[in-house]
Amino acid sequence: MPRREHRTKHLFITGGVVSSLGKGITAASVALLLKRRGYRVKIQKLDPYLNVDPGTMSPYQHGEVYVTEDGAETDLDLGHYERFTDIDCSQQSNYTTGRIYSDVLARERRGEYLGKTVQVIPHITDELKAAIRTLDGPDVDIAITEIGGTAGDIESLPFLEAIRQYRQEIGRERGLFVHLTLVPYIRAAGELKTKPSQQSVGILRGIGIIPDILVCRCERHLQQEHFDKLALFCNVDRELVFEEIDVANTIYEVPLDLAKQDLDKYILERFRMHVRDLDMDDWRSMVKRHIAPKKKKVEIAVVGKYISLRDAYKSIYEALEHGGMANDVELTIRQVEAEDLEKEGAKRCLKGVDGILVPGGFGDRGVEGKVAAIRYARENKVPFLGICLGMQCAVIEFARHVCGLEDANSTEFNPDTKAQVIHLMEDQRTIEDKGGTMRLGAYPCRLSDDSTAAKSYEGTQVSERHRHRYEFNNDFRSVFAEKGMRIAGTSPDDRLVELVEIPDHPWFVACQFHPEFKSRPLTAHPLFRDFVAASGGMLANE
Ligand code: GLN
Repeated sequence: MPRREHRTKHLFITGGVVSSLGKGITAASVALLLKRRGYRVKIQKLDPYLNVDPGTMSPYQHGEVYVTEDGAETDLDLGHYERFTDIDCSQQSNYTTGRIYSDVLARERRGEYLGKTVQVIPHITDELKAAIRTLDGPDVDIAITEIGGTAGDIESLPFLEAIRQYRQEIGRERGLFVHLTLVPYIRAAGELKTKPSQQSVGILRGIGIIPDILVCRCERHLQQEHFDKLALFCNVDRELVFEEIDVANTIYEVPLDLAKQDLDKYILERFRMHVRDLDMDDWRSMVKRHIAPKKKKVEIAVVGKYISLRDAYKSIYEALEHGGMANDVELTIRQVEAEDLEKEGAKRCLKGVDGILVPGGFGDRGVEGKVAAIRYARENKVPFLGICLGMQCAVIEFARHVCGLEDANSTEFNPDTKAQVIHLMEDQRTIEDKGGTMRLGAYPCRLSDDSTAAKSYEGTQVSERHRHRYEFNNDFRSVFAEKGMRIAGTSPDDRLVELVEIPDHPWFVACQFHPEFKSRPLTAHPLFRDFVAASGGMLANE
């Protein structure tokens, strides 16, 4: 019997004119709308840089590293994908030039090319096509592939060639090119300009890609003349030119704006797929809740070391917003640079905040500032949420100031310290490579019945994502318990401490995992929801 061919459709999203247009948010919005139309969607990003994954990059370079269930260290756009669509990403959701080349070169060393000259075309492009094909399958109706970078970049050329070939192979009915461009408003002339978009489409055309759909980022609405001009000069059907105007309040407005213009409907029509109803009521009311006047103001301090770059704590800020929406409060975030806190003191930097959050991080810069912030939270009974390094700092702080272990530290910062309350995990000791070797991805955690966290989760068995090398040193468990820090969550075999709490405090929870990766706008993560509630003095059982 002939194999039944599945007919996954492919949508390729490229960007033009400038970077930072929000391609990831556009891709995530389109994915959300198509999912809401009842289709099974998968989404991935191909990044043209040479790092095998963003895991080894500084947050200053690349923003946050987003971790998937299966432990891939990925681009932060995948966070948008998951938050918008609630579809889990995986190792197949993010490929870089580095990852593709390292696979091809390993194969070359194994002699698998049988003496051939190994070249960008076809070997690299074939590998890129194979990466796209991983989304293709009987369980996927529409696969969305976002191409990182900007049309015209030297390094994205093999990617564009790969998607050109891919679409050529699957045909126009199964493949669509969406190009996201910028239509800038020139203040002095008082005009919106379409020329950069025309030129960007020209670059793509030179490579053999004619966009089917144009999505234009703009700060002012496009007029009829702009739509006409863009359609005519860019060779795109008039009804397939869309605007994506700067949103006033939240990125979660973007899918609503695109839906208003029927972008998803046109995509389905072009794919000759049935246009099912779209229900966005819950999404719309979530956005309304975000905008509407609030009962209460809650200010949360985030004390970190990459504060100057907003993207470095993307998922943290998003999860806090979700927590704010869930509690219907107006949430403001005070971004506190940990090093400033070292210089100016906790009191000055944290005065008046309702809650304090210390996020993850690496290296010792700013650690003393974080420890001081946690001491302030503990002593002044300010609700506190510590995440990963934030938990490790909470342990250090408690050891020093409550357990009397003055030199307590993590061996990451001081390998010679006597009280090594945080130390390298057993299975990390022999690892030398930095890339992709941490404890990564989802692991189960068992919470104690009486814990604050179990109350939030409404259960004691949870699974959360990790990204770390160091852990709580079990030798200190009993000292901590005696002095009032509860080991409230461990791995099911009880070997690893995953969550600690201070019961004699309004709300003090610190976890080794990263709950922020699993928070969604419609379903705030329980720890973030209750942390914000506690900060606003709104937790029922307080
Ligand atoms: N640097 C710490 C570790 O490796 C914490 C990591 C993190 O916060 N993600 O364990």
